[in-house]
Amino acid sequence: MKNFSVTFLFLLAFLGAGCQDRLEYSIVIHGGAGNITPEYISPESASAIEAKLSEALDRGTRILASGGSSLDAVVDVIRIMEDSPLFNAGKGAVFNHAGKNELDASIMEGSTLNAGAVTGIGDIKNPITAARIVMEKSPHVLMMGAGASGFAARHGAEIVDSGYFFTERRWNDLQKKIQKDTVEKYGTVGCVALDRNGNLAAGTSTGGMTNKRFGRIGDSPIIGAGNYANNNSCAVSATGHGEFFIRYTVAHDISALMQYKKLTVVEAAREVIHKKLGKAGGKGGVICVDKYGNMAMEFNTAGMLRAWGNSKGDRGVRVF
Ligand code: ASP
Repeated sequence: MKNFSVTFLFLLAFLGAGCQDRLEYSIVIHGGAGNITPEYISPESASAIEAKLSEALDRGTRILASGGSSLDAVVDVIRIMEDSPLFNAGKGAVFNHAGKNELDASIMEGSTLNAGAVTGIGDIKNPITAARIVMEKSPHVLMMGAGASGFAARHGAEIVDSGYFFTERRWNDLQKKIQKDTVEKYGTVGCVALDRNGNLAAGTSTGGMTNKRFGRIGDSPIIGAGNYANNNSCAVSATGHGEFFIRYTVAHDISALMQYKKLTVVEAAREVIHKKLGKAGGKGGVICVDKYGNMAMEFNTAGMLRAWGNSKGDRGVRVF
């Protein structure tokens, strides 16, 4: 009898070793990675960014705490950031070489692996809502340009005049980049969340890179590159030099390392951002939440705007 109970206890310990308690909810937000240092960001801008990240985090946390879905939290958080001129998404989107705005967004649900994305959008106020419409109202995953806008508008997305996206700051940025003949600007927004039902969701929205040409599309609307969610592993949203994130399928690679190699979310994010991307010269970062609510925020740039919260009461907002 004694032997039996000892064996039984060992068995329980063995089974328990692979499991861990799941938090009730968890959320992480990013507002882009890049040269985010006090040298480039004034104290006034830093406090405006911090306040907006904080507002978005509070909104997402409230939804999750009251039993709302991770999908609703991700969309609402990203809409707040899209409506602000502070980030490179929605209202604050950067200009392409032709002086136009071409916005991209994507969303993914970890329980079903359903996903939706839009690219080359010039007249939808909240591209993340358009991405959700593609996911929920169509049999497709990715729609572009006028077709995407028309479809989203038919399902209730708000249309704006292209002048809505004009901000002097971004316009001046474009003039400088044209002069120097460079293409850059990170500042994409994203959100990943785990809800009380154990469902993960990820969303990403961007204006892309300043001075981009030829209909260039980055990683943000590409499922598996800039955005991914799978209830068996984690939810990921990326920001950075999109071409690298597409070639290294960054978001899916993090999930795959967790599923097949059994890395933790932090180990997987570090492996991809610092080792694989770092070696290749790809700059940027990711935010992740795993199926237990553990978080990872890794970047190989000078900084990444970020905020996080969970049901244990952890909460943080960081500009630098
Ligand atoms: N990843 C985006 C792109 O390449 C840019 C960014 O994250 O800011 O379009």
